[in-house]
Amino acid sequence: MIVAKFGGTSVADAEAIRRLVEIVRSRMREQPVVVVSAFAGITDELLDLAQQCGTGNQPEIERSVDALLQRHERVGDGLPGCSAALQSIRADAEQLRVEVSGVRDRKVSPAETDSIAGRGEVWSSRLVAAAMAQAGLDSAWVDIRPIMVTDGRFGRATPYTQVLNKRARDQLKPLADAGRVPVTQGFIGATATGVPTTMGRGGSDFTAALLGAALGATRVEIWTDVNGLMTADPRIVPSARTLSAASYDEAAELATFGAKILHPATALPLVRAGIPIVILNSRDPERHGTTIGPQAQLDRMGDSPIRSISWKQGITVVNIRAPRMLGTYGFLRALFEVFERHETVVDVLASGEVSISLTIEDRSRLASIMKDLHQLGDVWVEEGRAIVAIVGIGLKHTPGLAGRVFNAVWPANVEIISQGASAINMTFVVREEDGPDVVRRLHQEFFGSC
Ligand code: ADP
Ligand code: ASP
Ligand code: MG
Repeated sequence: MIVAKFGGTSVADAEAIRRLVEIVRSRMREQPVVVVSAFAGITDELLDLAQQCGTGNQPEIERSVDALLQRHERVGDGLPGCSAALQSIRADAEQLRVEVSGVRDRKVSPAETDSIAGRGEVWSSRLVAAAMAQAGLDSAWVDIRPIMVTDGRFGRATPYTQVLNKRARDQLKPLADAGRVPVTQGFIGATATGVPTTMGRGGSDFTAALLGAALGATRVEIWTDVNGLMTADPRIVPSARTLSAASYDEAAELATFGAKILHPATALPLVRAGIPIVILNSRDPERHGTTIGPQAQLDRMGDSPIRSISWKQGITVVNIRAPRMLGTYGFLRALFEVFERHETVVDVLASGEVSISLTIEDRSRLASIMKDLHQLGDVWVEEGRAIVAIVGIGLKHTPGLAGRVFNAVWPANVEIISQGASAINMTFVVREEDGPDVVRRLHQEFFGSC
């Protein structure tokens, strides 16, 4: 069995869906389970719609729902055999209209937002399943929500893997064993009582990995719009090269620090069973792509000690200066308890004798965090920062690396440098506006092009 996940651009229009069908056909012998994202751009539009709720601007809300429905109708009209799928989408769009109109004179709740945001995957999977059936593949549309049972942290829900594993085996495996192709949704789930949830932006990759682990798949294919994991985001560095292989750790580091190609948690469920992830280009399916897994042969990119560079914007630096931390213990525990209490993830950390700087992405609890941190010392924040991450082989043991990096980055100012226990990465903070140039200069230095 394999799991094949198709991202937004791989289901963006009728042409893309026809390509998807042929890719699935070419893998029929391997019992594919298909996971799809919403059409490119649809989740953003749904989230915008959720924001419009409660503004009282009914005509604007109506227009948004109409536009969403029309996009799906256009795609469906371009594919034969989709009329029943379109009917179900139209009925659900009416339901959506009722939901959003029901939010009046108040803010939309996180639960309502998730119910709205998850529609894109439901609708795209309906059309994909219908297009596959019309093309002669025995597809079975499967609602993932009763299988992907999650906690109730809307917008970033965590699945209960034991429940998921059992239900995936009970409900998906028999279909595949009978020669059918289950077509299901990424990104979404539901609580045990059936309230819809979502698992964070880009979460369809994570869904595919969870299902791959549950089903003991031989590999998880991530079909997208580039040739694989590259030496940098090709939108910033057009000359970026594709890595033929990568380790789980490399992929996780790059994804955590902004490489949108994979959701940061994708490797997690697959590591124990050693199931490889293969990133492939749905516009060019014969290419090898990038294989991420335990057996990955990590080739050096020419004579470069580094293999890839990523960056993530929207970062806030929090600095704490506390003379009393000198020579005392318990300070760090108190510090991290503040972040734990406010459920805020810390990404990069650097500490001196009496001060600590760390970075966070989620600013929603910043005011309360600051208030609590003031109990520990002087606190100040710097906004509009970006993290740049460099991943390579044995970076820690590469003499002169830091010098090369900082020479290349100059004149941009480097604010926090961190090299963790893993020998594979080095991260630092720069001003957000410097990020793309810093990535290009590093690429020029280490790969000879930008
Ligand atoms: P999908 O809709 O298929 O999930 P995404 O837009 O989420 O696709 O991810 C693919 C995009 O990730 C690419 O178009 C590319 O711009 C971006 N990207 C960022 N960093 C990298 C990288 N290191 N290698 C390849 N692509 C990257
Ligand atoms: N459609 C969702 C998003 O745009 C999930 C995904 O594409 O992976 O975030
Ligand atoms: Mg994605």
